[in-house]
Amino acid sequence: MTTVIDLTTDRRAQRHPEKAGRAETPVLRKPEWIRVKAPTSREYANTRAIVREHNLHTVCEEAACPNIGECWSHRHATMMIMGDTCTRACAFCNVKTGLPGMLDREEPANVARAVQKLGLKHVVITSVDRDDLPDGGARHFADTINAIRAVSPGTTVEVLTPDFLRKPGAIEVVAAARPDVFNHNLETVPRLYLRVRPGARYYASLRLLERVKEIDPTGFTKSGLMVGLGESREEIMQVMDDLRTAGVDFLTIGQYLQPTRRHAELVRFWTPDEFRSLETIARAKGFLMVSASPLTRSSYHADTDFAALKAARQGLA
Ligand code: SF4
Repeated sequence: MTTVIDLTTDRRAQRHPEKAGRAETPVLRKPEWIRVKAPTSREYANTRAIVREHNLHTVCEEAACPNIGECWSHRHATMMIMGDTCTRACAFCNVKTGLPGMLDREEPANVARAVQKLGLKHVVITSVDRDDLPDGGARHFADTINAIRAVSPGTTVEVLTPDFLRKPGAIEVVAAARPDVFNHNLETVPRLYLRVRPGARYYASLRLLERVKEIDPTGFTKSGLMVGLGESREEIMQVMDDLRTAGVDFLTIGQYLQPTRRHAELVRFWTPDEFRSLETIARAKGFLMVSASPLTRSSYHADTDFAALKAARQGLA
């Protein structure tokens, strides 16, 4: 007997076992303003080599980010700590899901060495969700920040954290390491949470951002949204108001891209003009810094945006 295995389906099921039974929705063809060049530069290859040499994962690769060619050509890789397997099952995300392995205790030092080798002035550290860990991985975040500071004291550190499953004390552990920017993405409007981000709670994420600001009012807080999932403009404006009430300084808004037919449906592409309009509104609502464009991602141009953020607070921008 011959067994025929559909490798494409099989690989997809291995990466996202929880999505295997979901109905498929066709992936919309990208408009011309979403197209990006294939990564070919020598600097891209160097960045890739440094990431591999230090046994690291990046969200750039795991989330299939469209900006990887541009960012890695400038050595800007966003490190994804605590493994490549996420304990959540967000409907929009391309990161592999399942039961993760043990934490790599060498990882904070490896990240720090890679940051030093890449010569980064500003680095973004994110992670998979580790709901299986007693502190959600908060200590590992703090250890990574401290390890980077020890070898690259001139490098500013931005963290993009999960919600740590709302575990008591977790936010405080990360905030105590004083990252220069503390980012936690709301991702979408509250009405869509159950469908798009079922393991998270909108008001808990808002409270996380507010709490970080309470702990360190001089630090910067940041959050991000994806559009294209069926949200309305009015709902986005309400989220902007909520974020300002929580004292958030920096807002990013980018276009959702559907990774596979079994991920959350991409309802529509917002046009560049609509992004510009969202940016104008967000600035009028009082954010110090706003980045809104089809290809905006939390870590896209994070170094130059951080400089602009500081200048804006000092009244220079
Ligand atoms: S935008 Fe962020 S995730 Fe995407 S390639 Fe650039 S650094 Fe990586």
